[in-house]
Amino acid sequence: MLKHQVIVIGGGLAGLRAAVESARLGADTAVLSLLYPVRSHSGAAQGGVNAALANMPECKDDSPAKHAYDTVKGADFLADQDCAEILTTDAPARIYELEHWGVPFSRTEDGRISQRPFGGAGYPRTCYAADKTGLYILHTLNEQAVKLGIKVYNEWAAIALASDGALNHGLVALNLQTGEIASFAADAVVFAVGGAGRIYKRTSNAMQSTGYCLGVAYKAGIPLKDMEFVQFHPTTIVGTNILMTEGARGEGGYLLNNQGERFMQRYAAKAMELAPRDIVSRSIQIEVNEGRGFPEGGGCVHLDLRHLGREKILERLPGIRELAISFLGIDCIEKPVPVQPGQHFIMGGIDTDKDGATILPGVYAAGECACVSVHGANRLGGNSLLECVVMGQRAGAAAGKFVKGKASAIKEAVLNDAAKKATAEVEALLKSSGKERLVNLRDEMAQTMTDQIGIFREDKAMREALATLHALRVRYRNVGVDAKHRKFNLDLLRTLELGGMLDVAESIAAGAVARQESRGGHSRLDFKTRDDANWMKHTRAHYTPDGARLTYTPVTKTKWEPEERKY
Ligand SMILES: Cc1cc2nc3c(=O)[nH]c(=O)nc-3n(C[C@H](O)[C@H](O)[C@H](O)COP(=O)(O)OP(=O)(O)OC[C@H]3O[C@@H](n4cnc5c(N)ncnc54)[C@H](O)[C@@H]3O)c2cc1C
Repeated sequence: MLKHQVIVIGGGLAGLRAAVESARLGADTAVLSLLYPVRSHSGAAQGGVNAALANMPECKDDSPAKHAYDTVKGADFLADQDCAEILTTDAPARIYELEHWGVPFSRTEDGRISQRPFGGAGYPRTCYAADKTGLYILHTLNEQAVKLGIKVYNEWAAIALASDGALNHGLVALNLQTGEIASFAADAVVFAVGGAGRIYKRTSNAMQSTGYCLGVAYKAGIPLKDMEFVQFHPTTIVGTNILMTEGARGEGGYLLNNQGERFMQRYAAKAMELAPRDIVSRSIQIEVNEGRGFPEGGGCVHLDLRHLGREKILERLPGIRELAISFLGIDCIEKPVPVQPGQHFIMGGIDTDKDGATILPGVYAAGECACVSVHGANRLGGNSLLECVVMGQRAGAAAGKFVKGKASAIKEAVLNDAAKKATAEVEALLKSSGKERLVNLRDEMAQTMTDQIGIFREDKAMREALATLHALRVRYRNVGVDAKHRKFNLDLLRTLELGGMLDVAESIAAGAVARQESRGGHSRLDFKTRDDANWMKHTRAHYTPDGARLTYTPVTKTKWEPEERKY
């Protein structure tokens, strides 16, 4: 049995930031990660990270309070306002800390951190390092983790949590390199396992963003909050759905339909292309549905950057230019890029308080997998990297304090029991010769989610999707794993993952069917308006073997009364 005071699952931005904080507090901290930390999806983040630094001439009177208001309004008033205020108040300190640790932020003429406009923001507030912001921050945080001597278990998959409901006792994980299953005793565990994009067919997320580990927390008895709120990014390139950063529109890019018209005029006359993502994605989808799109990829519009000029594109957006050349053969200096909305982010996640604590003592969550909630029904661009560093720091501090000076209360029996169950599940999968194939089940789940729990939703299609997910869950019991070897058995890993993904997908569908209103990313054709009287509340999905049981909790309001979102 391996032992650490704090184990952080996940080596992305949130995980590394949490680990750095807990180690700085003196806790023996380890990171356990499916991938080498610098390969985490955080490294794909392009556009930037928000903080009211007021560095640009046009944003001298920006403030954390204004940033909080934009966040709450962007969230369609479902964010907990106290949490949004914490996010934006902590933001400047976290950004300057990253700067001092060495993140090479792009600069203004007079040497300050430069800030670009992003959707739904009243001021240019997004700090960036060209269009590779996530990559630079991830490498910088990794350096800090190395400096602090944090032990990293690379290429391990966490597969079960060992908690008796009163205290945490550790986790069980699969070593991908050997196939061995090991127990890790830990008084505190921080989930920082990223998003769940791969539950959808069209997604900007990496292969690793399966959401499986949200399922691990969910199955251990931690509710998932607000899962029906899924973000679709307006501009992913057709075919692969790789992201074209919102920074492209922040720098002045246009969205054009097949008439050559900047159609956002019709939907958000003031903010135009920089309206929040839920609004821009719906607008694109309406243009396509009404015949004003282009046919590629089942329907798309054009992202036109040509007027920005070669120099600006090469300086500010070199990464997305390379991506469009590599994946479409299109140079955005010369031609517009065909784009369509794709799943991008989950606003919901593991239910936590403002310090990342879940309902299980000693278990925390931070980053995209967590729901604090700061993003409510729709996240603003640039607020997710921010959430990772702000809430990562807070969760790491809380975990570090939780274990400090405490005699370890680990009960080996609880851990052994969890290990025995997880081992039996893995062994059963390895032995299975069931007729169902992983790829078919996974594909059907992802297609169902994209088609029926997508940008526009309505009761009948969603209920059919729920039925499909339940049927897939039954078929999953008969799934066969073809590869029987132990080392790097990705067939086994993907099959294990699918079980958790189906649970998480079901929690999204169940929450979406139940919520009879339209708010942020949850847009229903049969309930077109926001209904504050009945639905100003958070959904909590509790795991049961038959599917999610839903309960609701109130939204915290501090300063801002709900208003109609106009942009
Ligand atoms: C293409 C793209 C561009 C983006 N651009 C921006 C942007 O410009 N600004 C912004 O604010 N946001 C952006 N986002 C969103 C933001 O990048 C993510 O929400 C954020 O980086 C997530 O960080 P994380 O630390 O929570 O998770 P991740 O970086 O996804 O890391 C998850 C970690 O969990 C580990 N893990 C997963 N499962 C297991 C398991 N079972 N066992 C062990 N380890 C596991 C993985 O190995 C990984 O290390 C973007 C997202 C994408 C996909």
